[in-house]
Amino acid sequence: MFQMTHHRRQSWLSGILFGADYRLEPAGDSSPEEDIRLMKGAQFTAVSSGGNLWERLEPEPGRFDFAFLDERIDQLAGSAMRMILCTPTAWSPAWLSGLDPEILRVSRSGTRASYTQPHNACYNSPIYRSRVRALLVALGAHFHPVDAVAGWQIETSEPGVISDCRCSRCTEAYSHYLSENHGSIAALNRAWGLEEQGQSYSSFDQIALPEEGEVGSNPAQLLDYHLFRSREYLSFAIEQIDILRDAQPAWFLTHGLTESSIDYLELSTKLDFAACSFFPMSFPPQDRGSRSASSLDAVRSISGNFLVSRLQSGAHGSAGTGSVGSMEDTPHPGQMRLFVYQAIAHGADGILHAAFRTANSPSPQFRGGIIANDGRAGARYEELCREGDELARLGANVTRTTPAPEVGILLDRHRNQLIHLSAPYGLPPPESQAETVHRLFFEAGYSVGYVHRFDSFSSFKLLVVAGLPFVSAELAGRLATYVEMGGTLLVTARSGVQDELGRLLPIPGPGYLRDLCGIQVGEYTRVNHPDLFPNSIVLAPPGGAENVPPSLALPTLPQQDWLECLDLVSAEVLGAWEEYPHAGRNALTLNRTGLGKTIYLGTMPSAANLHPLLFPLAGEASLVPLVSDPTPGVEVAVRECDEYRLYFVMNHTPQRLSQSGLPAGELLVGADSSLADSAGRRSRSVTLEGYDVALIRAPRSPSP
Ligand SMILES: [Zn+2]
Repeated sequence: MFQMTHHRRQSWLSGILFGADYRLEPAGDSSPEEDIRLMKGAQFTAVSSGGNLWERLEPEPGRFDFAFLDERIDQLAGSAMRMILCTPTAWSPAWLSGLDPEILRVSRSGTRASYTQPHNACYNSPIYRSRVRALLVALGAHFHPVDAVAGWQIETSEPGVISDCRCSRCTEAYSHYLSENHGSIAALNRAWGLEEQGQSYSSFDQIALPEEGEVGSNPAQLLDYHLFRSREYLSFAIEQIDILRDAQPAWFLTHGLTESSIDYLELSTKLDFAACSFFPMSFPPQDRGSRSASSLDAVRSISGNFLVSRLQSGAHGSAGTGSVGSMEDTPHPGQMRLFVYQAIAHGADGILHAAFRTANSPSPQFRGGIIANDGRAGARYEELCREGDELARLGANVTRTTPAPEVGILLDRHRNQLIHLSAPYGLPPPESQAETVHRLFFEAGYSVGYVHRFDSFSSFKLLVVAGLPFVSAELAGRLATYVEMGGTLLVTARSGVQDELGRLLPIPGPGYLRDLCGIQVGEYTRVNHPDLFPNSIVLAPPGGAENVPPSLALPTLPQQDWLECLDLVSAEVLGAWEEYPHAGRNALTLNRTGLGKTIYLGTMPSAANLHPLLFPLAGEASLVPLVSDPTPGVEVAVRECDEYRLYFVMNHTPQRLSQSGLPAGELLVGADSSLADSAGRRSRSVTLEGYDVALIRAPRSPSP
């Protein structure tokens, strides 16, 4: 499916895109001229617009009027800014549902969506689809190659693109999808296990849309429904992409990844790069650095370097109804700039702030912008100007590079996540197990990232499969090749036990990974009462128990959610369960194949059980931390190209903190710093004020 290393792919942007998401209609007393003056002051190179312009571009069916858009693009072009045009499909004009009220989605309760909701249309409405096509064909053909436009973003970054429309057309489309995918009703009955339960269907049109979350609902049926919904959305998005690619081959095409239930791997093959929203204030302060890093790395795993199409620039909230609603903390002074650098450190080649102006309208989402609702350009605008100044100087220094993590964690937000969601058994989803592993390496100062299952693994020293229930024979084969070539693989409990439809495989765990792991899972249990039945893995002492002095306590690895006893085939034992009823049974093993090794952990990952494994794993995989003595609260992240590495040093706390042991290099972005010589090696220490950032460029030693 993919020919190249995807997580390390460059975006091919020649410099960092910098700007904001900008509504073209003047808000309140503001004027476009004043906005442009402010944006020039901040050295903007791009703005994204258009997501809400359908009504203006097509005031009545078939009558297109692009004069307003032309005028605003010309104004920006005069100021050296380029526009990113969002396709305005999320907000449809009132006349559209007037053409046919059945355009609007039908909810579970049978009511139609209100036309003022975003993404209110049914993707199976032929009228909606034909109106979208007509608009995009007209929009694409309207522009001669215009330098003032940089590219298209499919949709805005509004969540809600996956529809759960329950109209008769969707029911029919679902039935058609099932018949196409299963071939015959007998095959569907077998796949869903309906013969066994004496409830076989005799024709496809008997099958209704499933009710999620109902007790006894069939997981295979739910999974098929999720896959159907993803496919419906992809057909809509790809139709837009094909029209626009044909119209303007030179403009880039991106899409704001908003919902994990979409098959973004398939979508990304049609895009130049992915885009995402980045709102770190939604994470708790103590986890913000690691969770932000994890969310950015997840986007990069899809398509390499990416665009942040909406970066948090102020307070952000959701109005809710009744007493339900929320509003995040406003970023502290300096924090917005920190978010910009963190996004770039993890692979963003473009940053658009969410909302240039704070909206005055009674929108259901409160969006704090750079410019206040009363029109003031205050401290946040000054911070923005500082960002613009620094990024203009950095330019292609940054976009030539990509992050290059040593630790790769397999992330599958589509098939594996959906298999889990269809039958979660109250267990943590694979995505959060992956995040637990990510956080361990992040906090210990290692370069860590995610990789998808079709990508190349060869650049990683350590690869982790954290509780992925579906590992195909093909993926198991590629993992075996990775290990044989010298890689180190960590596999955790419940990996590889299900097939692509979520059915338990008729072979012992970890399924197709058994030979590679050199074990078979024997007994297993969900751990529901760890307080009544505590258990931990006791590490086997190297060289046998007799070599360990009785005074030395070996570290133990507590169970998490799930416990497995491992029967050895070719592996050696690294640890065993300590307590009744599994005392002495194998729990942690190592298997050598070719030049590499595979470690299997018979429980789910947690901070407590991974921590004692960190140094042994780092030793086995020859991992080197980015700094030898990481300061808690300071993140060090690296992007690199053949000639140099860029070290991003970021203080995620409001306190003044120092980080030593950095390469001497050249300081590209500020902070107090000093150089030291130790054992013939020059190193740099930086002291960062709260939320401050330093950036060091260090030459790479030539390869031998
Ligand atoms: Zn529908």
